[in-house]
Amino acid sequence: MTSQLQNSGPYAADIERVVVSATDIKDKIAELARKVEADYDADATSPLLLVGVLKGAFVFMADFARELQHPTEVEFMAVSSYGSSTTSSGVVRILKDLDRDIAGRHVLVVEDIIDSGLTLSWLLRNLASRNPASVQVVALLRKPDAVKVPVEVPYVGFDIPNEFVVGYGLDYSEQYRGLPFVGVLKPEVYGAG
Ligand code: 5GP
Ligand code: MG
Ligand code: MG
Repeated sequence: MTSQLQNSGPYAADIERVVVSATDIKDKIAELARKVEADYDADATSPLLLVGVLKGAFVFMADFARELQHPTEVEFMAVSSYGSSTTSSGVVRILKDLDRDIAGRHVLVVEDIIDSGLTLSWLLRNLASRNPASVQVVALLRKPDAVKVPVEVPYVGFDIPNEFVVGYGLDYSEQYRGLPFVGVLKPEVYGAG
């Protein structure tokens, strides 16, 4: 843990604790990729369509797409959940839509973290209405609250405690996305002292 923090530049001092190490993330991504490879046909007429949910999933997407030994295409969506900054309401607005039609395609949504599951359940309904061949989800992280809105997620990296985490794509006020691990910030970073 100490060496990871030393490699984290100016942000290291803000981190209280590492929740998922860079090594564990790397190993888990390989494990998830092998499962996806086993479940999808590499010789399908069109490549598996990875849909990353911006911004948080950009780091996971980059590593997962490179690990996956299957033909893929990559798309991104950006969504914003109405509500307070800490709780999502389930009312979602599309900030950036897909650039193409997904009818008849096998879609794999790539998510950073499932918290309440509200954003994801809305997104899955939205994508399903576009008549894809299938829609599944791979999420790096999931919190216990996710059970409140049960969403079937076949590929989950880590179940983590119900704490606000940053790093590996996840931000606090747009910062910390570049950290190579997932961690918890020191309380004083939030101004809580
Ligand atoms: P949900 O609709 O599942 O409650 O919200 C999911 C979204 O909220 C995630 O995709 C992520 O952008 C954000 N989120 C949820 N929990 C955390 C967290 O612990 N840290 C950060 N940085 N973002 C989170
Ligand atoms: Mg997300
Ligand atoms: Mg955020």
